[in-house]
Amino acid sequence: MSAIQAEVERRGMQIFDLVDRHPESIFSKAGFYQRMMEFSMRDEHFKVQMFRFVDVLASLRRGSDIVRHLDEYFADMRNGYAPLIRTGVSLARIVPIISGKFLRWNVSGMARQFIAGCNPGDVMKTLRKKRQQRIGFTVDLLGEAVVSEEEAAEYAERCQELLEHLARETRGWTDPLGKNSELFPVVNVSVKISALYSQMNPADPADAIAHLAPKLRPILRRAKELGAFINFDMESYAHKNATLELFCALFTEPEFRDWPHAGIVIQAYLRDAETDLRDLIAWGRARGTRFTVRLVKGAYWDYEKIKSTQNGWVIPVWLQKPESDANFEKLTRILLENESIVTSAFGSHNVRSIAYAQALAEELGIDRSRFEFQLLYGMAGPIKRALVDMGYRVREYSPVGELLPGMSYLVRRLLENTSNEGFLRAKFSEHVSAAQLLSDPRELMNGADNFATDSAAATANFSRNGATPEMPCDAYKNASLVNFVYPECQEKMRTALREVRAHFGQKYPLVIDGKEIWTDKLLKSVNPSAPDEIVGYVAEAGIPEAERAVKAARRAFETWARTPVEERCRLLERAAAILDRRRFELSAVEVFEVGKAWSEADGDIREAMDFCLFYAQQMRLIGYPRLTQNVPGEESYQHYWPRGVALVIAPWNFPVAILCGMVTAALVTGNAVIMKPAEPSAILGALLMEVFQEAGVPPGVLNCLHGRGSVIGAYLVDHPDVEMIAFTGSREVGLRIWESAGKTRPGQRELKRVVCEMGGKNAVIVDSDADLDETIVDTIYSAFGYQGQKCSACSRLIVLEENYERVMHRLLAAAASLRVGNPDQPGITVGPVIDETAYHRIQEIIEEGKTEATLAFQATNIPDKGYFIPPTIFTDVKPEMTLSQCEIFGPVLSVLKARDLDDAIRIANDTDYALTAGFFSRSPANIERIKAELVAGNVYVNRSCTGAVVGRHPFGGFKMSGGGTKAGGSDYLLNFLVPRVVTENNVAANFSGLRGKRTIDR
Ligand SMILES: Cc1cc2nc3c(=O)[nH]c(=O)nc-3n(C[C@H](O)[C@H](O)[C@H](O)COP(=O)(O)OP(=O)(O)OC[C@H]3O[C@@H](n4cnc5c(N)ncnc54)[C@H](O)[C@@H]3O)c2cc1C
Repeated sequence: MSAIQAEVERRGMQIFDLVDRHPESIFSKAGFYQRMMEFSMRDEHFKVQMFRFVDVLASLRRGSDIVRHLDEYFADMRNGYAPLIRTGVSLARIVPIISGKFLRWNVSGMARQFIAGCNPGDVMKTLRKKRQQRIGFTVDLLGEAVVSEEEAAEYAERCQELLEHLARETRGWTDPLGKNSELFPVVNVSVKISALYSQMNPADPADAIAHLAPKLRPILRRAKELGAFINFDMESYAHKNATLELFCALFTEPEFRDWPHAGIVIQAYLRDAETDLRDLIAWGRARGTRFTVRLVKGAYWDYEKIKSTQNGWVIPVWLQKPESDANFEKLTRILLENESIVTSAFGSHNVRSIAYAQALAEELGIDRSRFEFQLLYGMAGPIKRALVDMGYRVREYSPVGELLPGMSYLVRRLLENTSNEGFLRAKFSEHVSAAQLLSDPRELMNGADNFATDSAAATANFSRNGATPEMPCDAYKNASLVNFVYPECQEKMRTALREVRAHFGQKYPLVIDGKEIWTDKLLKSVNPSAPDEIVGYVAEAGIPEAERAVKAARRAFETWARTPVEERCRLLERAAAILDRRRFELSAVEVFEVGKAWSEADGDIREAMDFCLFYAQQMRLIGYPRLTQNVPGEESYQHYWPRGVALVIAPWNFPVAILCGMVTAALVTGNAVIMKPAEPSAILGALLMEVFQEAGVPPGVLNCLHGRGSVIGAYLVDHPDVEMIAFTGSREVGLRIWESAGKTRPGQRELKRVVCEMGGKNAVIVDSDADLDETIVDTIYSAFGYQGQKCSACSRLIVLEENYERVMHRLLAAAASLRVGNPDQPGITVGPVIDETAYHRIQEIIEEGKTEATLAFQATNIPDKGYFIPPTIFTDVKPEMTLSQCEIFGPVLSVLKARDLDDAIRIANDTDYALTAGFFSRSPANIERIKAELVAGNVYVNRSCTGAVVGRHPFGGFKMSGGGTKAGGSDYLLNFLVPRVVTENNVAANFSGLRGKRTIDR
């Protein structure tokens, strides 16, 4: 055993001895909280339901609401506690007011275990008590997620008040150790950076710093005057780099350069924590002034893992708990070895982690008064006491806030206390042996399989929709999104934007039969953010070129239809690889040509790649003959033939993805294709053609015709040699195509098949118990992301009367905080609408809207050049109004008030369309109703109603939204195929059958 391990064990045992004298009360068996924790640790499903209930409780107003939720959460409980809970619920039903009060009181009690006070005044009682126990404090202001600049300003103000209050109330307090006290001011405030700026965007740390620095400077200035300490807490990975950069930038400024009382958090569960810590130390040395690092493992492990998995990103956290533990120790060593410039604060409840820091400090000869241990208020009380008794410096992280905003903090703590892998549960609930708890994490790292995660168990429990867990699409792994949190990705995008701009004005030909064709007419494509900038030109096709394309496609079809499935699939896979190679370039063109924000543009390229890969995978599943039944004497198999020549007419709003999706579906199924990109996104269409040419599409199999829909589009739809039309676009054009394709013309041999996807008038309903943090952020994104120009966008928000004022207050403030501007800048959320026609049309609708409803909000600070429409919100909208019925396709949101859920569902369904719909609620029963009753092709619960992912959310609607086809779904390709069945009597060829026949003959 190494000397350090022996010392860790010795110290660990000493801590345990002290701890065991005062067992942890929150893990005892008495009391409401304790019983809840005990149940939760025994039953994962109960735990999930319990924490959901705690989360919703503060937003419920009436006793009857509380009882209803209790009933809904625990109704399907089938464990040992079920009778107990059912009896409780039955009693509660009889006297809901009293039961509501009782539960609220109990849950408030739980919250009070972790929240040190409701306000700065209230918290002093706790801090004074702790002072007597020789425990210091860092106070953190709890709050709802900050969704607007109004809320961010309030948070900054509260920080200032808190500082003043703490400084005033702690005057005369002295350092508990009386040694090296200059390193550890009494007043210590922990600041959440994301609470100071609502528009933090990982792609744009410079913008975050530009907005955060002016808000932080007065706080830091005042802290410096008052002799206080400010710590920057660390939140999700998306904000990590900006937080680190901000810290270094601010504390390098002359005003703060010599100020040593600043600290920041390093999260050991991150794989890049070591690099960040070394960079920070190098920065500190260059600066020449001490600073503090609070080393923690990290509070968002599940979130980071889920989010990265959903987006196909590299998971930034370690996946095995001992890896985080081991990294914590590695970083402890780096910190202590650099004690001359950095003061360490070890934020952990894990006795092994704590003992390691103690042992190492001893080995390095660092006095115990020169670093501190930080622990959370309400947790690990006996460990704090033991550390104090051993003469160490202890500081408690003390959250202050009201019950409602405090609930998410409470739930995080409950999860931490009940986590399968957490130290506290192991020690205080499961009584794991001290020797095990003190073992070296490096030795535990190999047993990867032993570390099943809480989240995996939770996911299993959450599959409660009756869906079979293993779906065919599960086998498909989506392409990744670019993670703009990485500076190298930001740089690649900036370079691509520069390079694309340098090639503005380039000309692109038509491609027919593999040949580049130029005509004497060129169509120009302009930048909607700056219409005097011409992104490029395309040759314009007329009827002769359309005719030539049909002939080329028909010829090519004969061979392509017989090309092996595998070869066709590989073409798509090569195209995906080329899209991946050119993704930054293509995204940059999207920014300029159609005004997409960076992440929206990247999402479009990712979706295009997904269509290629997903349809290739699907074609391999359906592309081979399949026996219909196993009967003796006969073989019957079904297989598919392509339809013929497919015309693809695509929209400009997902200029690469939708075009690519329809083209690849047609190609992989063996059809020859004529694609007509939308006029405003013609350059992107031309670039997609380049991709397929490079991928090796044979001449004539894919032809690219640019031109006016009214001329070549109409001609091709009616052409007798075009067998199918795949269209995505407006209802007006879609219906015309549907009708026209229904007529049989001379020379036509096939009934035309039309895949027709049109618009929506999508509604999102907000229930009275909805989580507003989530609701506001997701609704703003659904309504104003890509300027509301997604067919899936939320254009009607239906809010239950009971919640109306609360929702509207936050919604309007959030809309007012949006960044509107030229999307060539990284953090822009709202850019221009597509062209002048759209601009005028939307303006007219807004003007008309003003005559029928109340203009509740319209942004004012928008660029004066370009087709910018300010984000606009109307209230007092009634279901029959134009604002409720007509598709606007712009950044305009109509808000309708509903009496109750029945009313809300009726309003939501009262439209010609049925594309997407959303619902925010924490009531399981209401969620079930919505799933069954909302009339839409894609229904989203507790998330944005845009952003369908190929394979995961097959996309498309019905009624006037489309013909019920699902792009990106497992049955989409069937639209491009005709089924055939071939049956052969093989009795004569079968030896045993033959024998049987002869016998009968005799
Ligand atoms: C005073 C204080 C301040 C804090 N401030 C912050 C902050 O600003 N930002 C922040 O993010 N966190 C912060 N935390 C940390 C966080 O809230 C948790 O308290 C902490 O991670 C628990 O670690 P532990 O050492 O006490 O317990 P342990 O039980 O030893 O460790 C639990 C931790 O291990 C990690 N983990 C769990 N499962 C796995 C797995 N399968 N693979 C890899 N790692 C895993 C997680 O980080 C988990 O929280 C702070 C903690 C304290 C005490």
